[in-house]
Order: sequence, then structure tokens, then C-alpha cells
Amino acid sequence: MSIVEKPRGTRDFSPAEMHGRDYVEGMISRTLETYNYRKILIPTFEHAELFKLKSGEEIEEHMFVFKDKANRELCLRPEATASVCRMFSGELQMMQRPLKLYYSCPMFRYEEPQKGRYREFWQMGVELIGAETPESDAEVISLASECLKKLGIEFKLEINHLGILRGVLDDLDIKGEKQDKALALIDRKNFEELKKIADNGNFFELIKLTGGRDVLENASSLLNGCVAGMEASGELGQITSWLDAMEIDYIINLGIARGLAYYTGTVFEIRVSELGAQSQICGGGRYDDLIGLFSGVKTPAVGFAFGFDRVMNATELQKIEIPEKKTDIVVAPVSADVRIDAAKIASKLRDNFIVDFDLMGRKLGKILEYAGNIGARYVIIVGSEDMKNNSITVRDMGTGEQKKVKIENVEMAIKKILL
Ligand code: AMP
Repeated sequence: MSIVEKPRGTRDFSPAEMHGRDYVEGMISRTLETYNYRKILIPTFEHAELFKLKSGEEIEEHMFVFKDKANRELCLRPEATASVCRMFSGELQMMQRPLKLYYSCPMFRYEEPQKGRYREFWQMGVELIGAETPESDAEVISLASECLKKLGIEFKLEINHLGILRGVLDDLDIKGEKQDKALALIDRKNFEELKKIADNGNFFELIKLTGGRDVLENASSLLNGCVAGMEASGELGQITSWLDAMEIDYIINLGIARGLAYYTGTVFEIRVSELGAQSQICGGGRYDDLIGLFSGVKTPAVGFAFGFDRVMNATELQKIEIPEKKTDIVVAPVSADVRIDAAKIASKLRDNFIVDFDLMGRKLGKILEYAGNIGARYVIIVGSEDMKNNSITVRDMGTGEQKKVKIENVEMAIKKILL
């Protein structure tokens, strides 16, 4: 180990990468805000117990757990939903419902790092608390879809209702932890292990059903009169009717189970095929029992999380254009006696433009070279003779054209061209 090496699974982000990330984050945040979701922030570390309660084995195995100086067992947050439920059960309980929340922050999971899988990774997610209508599931699903459409990303959205799987498993007398385990195995597509728990032909046929709304009809014969399963299938039918009305494309896939143990109803996943093994860029669903575990009051909720790094990888692979970050102006004092005046001009221009000022005391030729290298659009050349006439020279770095302009007109002149 060396101090100049990053810890495994962490990354540095260059200014260019951060520009792209901020652009994409801004686009998603704005979309969420148009649906009236409001941003929250949760702690970077929590009591480890919080996630052991219901996040599931998959998460628990991968937590960064540590003891603080008072011997409390803490962990870096591996996901946000449990924290949001904890937060809701405290200070947010009295707020008007439904509560529409979103977050954007890093999560930590001790996993084998590879492209699209990191130990520190970012999630942007939403939680809609207090609503249990089919249209609330549909809103959350359409919201995820809308964010990606705004970015121009092509993707596949698959949806299921865990009530169907849980209903059938209940009827097969596979309950409690054994049932959660079966769902985790379906999520990992580990059918061999699954067979050891649920060796039932109809069930295996059921989880292989995928397609349009006809899937629900085909499912009914395999449900063998399972009342809870039929009810869940009916709910999924209602939710997909809403999605149809909102013109959201989806595939019903009865083999989607999700790795998190708190989901109770709808579950959905979004994949971008170009991402290969780590193609899942979003996962979500309904979790009507989780908040009750904290507050004692059963409160319905539905949400999702984007794997933000994978969204970024998708924009790269699908060649989504991200507007370049441009420096508008570099202010270039030609001699030492005008540096302060030049700095004042730069300062004034910053009211409207992105302005760089030569800090190195370079000669004009070198400043022009610098401005060219950073892609600046204009250089304002401040010379002592010109200053006596209250004027400066504006150089268009694209065409090389130069124009003398009175100082009081500089802003107007550049505004005309740039804005
Ligand atoms: P989950 O909280 O497990 O439902 O994950 C939600 C989304 O976070 C997934 O669909 C992935 O896109 C992303 N994700 C999960 N784990 C990682 C990881 N280790 N590195 C990068 N992204 C991840």
C-alpha cells in the first residue's frame, strides 16, 4: 500500500469529468423538481444496525463496518432508502403527504471493483412516501424513464410485482427468510440453488414469463388460483395501464425480484445493454412495510435509485453530447502598469461572463497561447496607451479578428456576440 495510491474501488474525477457529471446531475435534478420532488441529504455513516434490519443479505455482506471510539458499530451508508425511512420516522412524519423526496450522494459497498462497479459510487434516487395508489407507482416509474429520456439515453425498463412471486411462494409454504432467500436467488438468476428451495414446475415457468401485458394473462393459468398472486397481478395490470396512458415503454418480466429485502410490491429495473455485465442503471420498487419497522405506523412508499456512475458510463457509450464548458474571456494586461486596471475590468465582466485573468505576468504572445489552449472565446488585451483613451482591444480567438472598444462599451460588445 502506498499513500499515492487510491483505495481500491475509489476514483478521482478530473475537472472535465466533473463538468459532465454536474451537467447530468443537473438535468436529472431539474426533471425531479418538475414533478415537485425536493432534495434531502442523509448522513455518510449510520448505525450498522439500520441496514441489518431490512436491507437484505446482499447489502449486509458488502457493508463497510467500523467501530467508533466509543465502540459503537457504524457503517458507511450502502444505500439511502433505510436512512430516508429513519429520517421520515423522526422529523418528517408531520409533513404533508405524499412526501416527495430525492437525494444525490455517494454510497459505499465492499464489492469486487470492475467497470461500472465501485466501492464508492453515487446514487441519485427518489422516495415517494405516503401514497399507495397505482398511479404513484406509475409516477415513480415514469419519472425514472423521463430523466433518462431527457438525457437522450436509450434503455430497457422491466417491471414486476413481488406480490405475484411472494403469493405463489406462500402457497408453496416457502415463507419468511426462506422466501427472501428464494427472491435473492431469482435476482441473481441462480436457478440451480433456487430449485433446492422451490422445486415447482409452474413456479419456474412463471418466473420465465416476459413480454407485454399478455404476460399477465399467461400468468393467471400458472397461478393455480393463488389469491394473493392474482391480486398482485391485477395491481400490476392497473399500474401498467397508467404507464400506457403516460406513453412509457416497459416490459413485464416476472423474473425480476431485486436484491433488497424490503420490497413488497412493484419492482422495476432499467438496463442499458451497451454496459455489458453492469447493465443495470436503475432499480426500484414499492416497500410498504419498511417505514413501519422504524415508526410503528405502517406507511406505504415507493422509490428508485439510479446508479449515477453507470448513467455516466451510458452517456459515454451512447455518445450523448454534453455541452462543452467554455471560458468566455481571458483578460491580458500587456504591461505591469495596467495589471490593476485589467484586474478591475475582469472583475466587472464576471457579473455576466466566465473570465480568466493572467496571474503569471506573461507576455501577450504567451497569454494568447494560454487562451487558445484552454479554448477561451475572447481575449481582452489591456495596454497602457489604450488605457489612456479608456479603451481596450477585444480579440476573437476563433477568427483572430481584433477590435478596439471603449471600456464602458466592452460588456455590451461582448454580450452582443456571446449572449
Ligand atoms: P441497489 O441499491 O442495489 O438497488 O442499486 C441501485 C443502482 O445502483 C443499481 O441499479 C446500480 O446501477 C447502482 N449500483 C449498485 N451497486 C453499485 C456499485 N458497486 N457500483 C456502481 N453502481 C452500483
